[in-house]
Amino acid sequence: MLTPKQIKNKYIPEYQKNPNKYYPVEAIKSFGFTRNQCGICKKFFWDLDSKRQICDDSSCTEGFTFIDKKYAKNKMNYVETWKKFVSILKTHGYKEIKRYPVTARWRDDLNFVEASIDNFIPYVINGEIKPPANPLIVPQFCLRFNDVDNVGITNSHFTGFVMVGQHRFEQPKDYDPNAYLKHLMDWFLKGLRIDLKDITLHEEVWAGSGKFGPAIEFFSGGLELCNQVYMQYEVYKKSYRDLKLKTLDMGLGLERNTWFSQGTNTAYESVFPNVCKKLYQIGGLNVDNELMRKFLPYASYLNLDEVDDINKAWLRISEKIGVDVKTLKDEIIPLAGLYSIGEHTRALLVALSDGALPSNSGGGYNLRMLLRRSLGFIDKYNWEVKLHEICKWHADYLKPIFPELSKNLNEVQTILDYEETKFNSTKKRSKKLVFKILNKDIKTSKLIELYDSQGIPPEIIKTEARSIGKEIYVPDNFYSMISELHKERGHKLHKKKEINIEIGFVEDTKRLYYEDYKLGEFDAKVLKVIDNYVILDQTIFYPTSGGQLHDIGFINDYEVIEVFKQDNVIIHKLKHKSLFKEGDNVVGKINLERRQILARHHTATHIVNAACKFLLGNHINQAGAKKTTSKAHLDITHYKTISDNELELIEKKANEIVNKNIPISLSFVDRDEAEKLYGMSIYQGGAVPGKKLRIVNIPKIDVECCGGTHVLNTSEVGVIKILRSSKISDSVVRIEFIAGSRVKDQLNKSSNLLEESARILDVTKNVVPARAKELFDKWKKVVKKKKYDKDDLHLINFDSENSSDEDLLKKTALILKTQAEHVPKTLKRFIKEWKEKISE
Ligand SMILES: [Zn+2]
Ligand SMILES: [Zn+2]
Repeated sequence: MLTPKQIKNKYIPEYQKNPNKYYPVEAIKSFGFTRNQCGICKKFFWDLDSKRQICDDSSCTEGFTFIDKKYAKNKMNYVETWKKFVSILKTHGYKEIKRYPVTARWRDDLNFVEASIDNFIPYVINGEIKPPANPLIVPQFCLRFNDVDNVGITNSHFTGFVMVGQHRFEQPKDYDPNAYLKHLMDWFLKGLRIDLKDITLHEEVWAGSGKFGPAIEFFSGGLELCNQVYMQYEVYKKSYRDLKLKTLDMGLGLERNTWFSQGTNTAYESVFPNVCKKLYQIGGLNVDNELMRKFLPYASYLNLDEVDDINKAWLRISEKIGVDVKTLKDEIIPLAGLYSIGEHTRALLVALSDGALPSNSGGGYNLRMLLRRSLGFIDKYNWEVKLHEICKWHADYLKPIFPELSKNLNEVQTILDYEETKFNSTKKRSKKLVFKILNKDIKTSKLIELYDSQGIPPEIIKTEARSIGKEIYVPDNFYSMISELHKERGHKLHKKKEINIEIGFVEDTKRLYYEDYKLGEFDAKVLKVIDNYVILDQTIFYPTSGGQLHDIGFINDYEVIEVFKQDNVIIHKLKHKSLFKEGDNVVGKINLERRQILARHHTATHIVNAACKFLLGNHINQAGAKKTTSKAHLDITHYKTISDNELELIEKKANEIVNKNIPISLSFVDRDEAEKLYGMSIYQGGAVPGKKLRIVNIPKIDVECCGGTHVLNTSEVGVIKILRSSKISDSVVRIEFIAGSRVKDQLNKSSNLLEESARILDVTKNVVPARAKELFDKWKKVVKKKKYDKDDLHLINFDSENSSDEDLLKKTALILKTQAEHVPKTLKRFIKEWKEKISE
């Protein structure tokens, strides 16, 4: 497939040869604009001034001119800019919708929303679901990390920003770009109130996700204010074809438009003025001085994307304003640090509030990078400020547009504080480390390695090195290099299919297991037989999916040992080759006991997820799950380990839900309807294709879109017993548990193990932990001579008379630092080794 850049290069000459066919020329001309070609970049553009030789892109005009010239006659703050946009587009029939979460749960290829159109890819654009409104406008918060080193320094870059979307999804006959361009022109003429002579329209081609179309970019004063894309084609074979639904994809940067309207020296002062004011105080910086005023118009020269040699760029500015580079840097770089902190905390606030977590892998990697880059600045300049305080200021300011951000502040604070503690221990560690490596040359590759493997920001190494009189070079685009390194990790990985057999064309299998999970028998017709695989017209056999293990059983007398799904066809694997022929009528039978255990484990997973969310906070989401017959596990997104006490509370809460006898509703709902009713958190198991979603609803507790088999009332789960929790990655914790009859089995097992241990130690059951402790200490003394471990002391100070067998076993296992099932064996080994040693 062609890359977006290749598509652009291929089609832009064609479109420019025939602008009347591809661009809304009729509308453009109606404003009196004429067409010119830029003498520098050779692009075609339209404006009122026919003598103009170059386009209005800041790279052709050398910088932004809107700051001095104040082209916008309407001065609006960030919130007012959005409100004004709504009021203008409303008159043309556009409906305002709420932003989508920035964590793209409905996508299997993206961690974070990067553009407003991402909300509607793939299902709206491919016609599978209706858009929430049509036409619509949305203030979509987006995250992009590729320009992170430019933030603060160029005065215009953001990692978190609102892309205001103007979207329509139309049948080809109703599609009318001329009208859409006119709607948008109202924004410039009536919203920002720019004179027509100060607006320039550039001809472009936009491409992404295999879709593309002509685009018009709107410029004023050197700044691109928005881009209206007429997305009408998709790449098809070696050429392209028309999209079934023609789409309008207009993206307008709310930050830029506010900045343009205010004409402040930096975009940050326009976008979060309250935060800037407070940060200036904290940093003790005076932005209203001579040097700063001289520097600011040239800040865009420092854009790392566009300069080859950043030192030359600094020199160029220093010559322009007549100040030496060192003085300039000493003044500017701390300010860039302050702006970065202001910008990064805003991005973090939205991301964390929407359920993302900083991490050392996946989507959270870049969030931690923002965090550490911010903390690196705070540390370097010894500023007295906490990141969560700045988040609070942002939430206050954004309340009229995003009130939801104020609701999650406590949780955001907990996460940020926790990350800060981690950062501080990293700092301590890095002191020692830096000392060790300082006699060598520290190259950029080493800095990258230290950040990537140990989370040590280069700023800290630089400061440490300086304290012992050594200078280290840190490239200005350090964080972009890091982000680039993790680019593929930033996007979700597609899961590989495990089995893939050639089945040719077969009708989709009717799934009877959706109807009643207790149904054990069914009639069906054989559709296809391939080796020992059988495909039926309908089945009760659940195929392994959504983390739930498949059913087993029989088709006639043939044993079914595995069941899996290929697209919408369910394939049964038989133990032996059958004599089935196409068209045979057969009877299928599943192992109902196994099915019921799996169903209980599956519903229990949803309940445990809800209990965790209730007790640990809104950031809890499912990161993975598995339900087998012996036990189940749920992986949740959480920033630290779960304590025993928390685990007990989760278990208690989960059982409370079970005991509430809540009927569970299972139904198929249209995707758009389901999203509207329950929100994007339904995608706990990840992105799901299809027009209709199966919704598993435990009213007021948990709603998920899930294809698994479930019990019909929470009480059928019986009881939930949490076995243990463990951290499986930096931001994911696994909770293992059992439910229903499995709990009874487990209790019996515990009791047996405890009895055996009591026999080995020759004591009664309730003294086992105390005696095990005594033995363990003796063993440690003679065998390993280890120091006394204080942690174990409290473990035996509990009421052993009134403890259950299971508790006694658990405590014993803790003392012996082993798992419960190994207790008797470990005790035997200790006795043996201890006796051998004392007889020596
Ligand atoms: Zn140009
Ligand atoms: Zn599920």
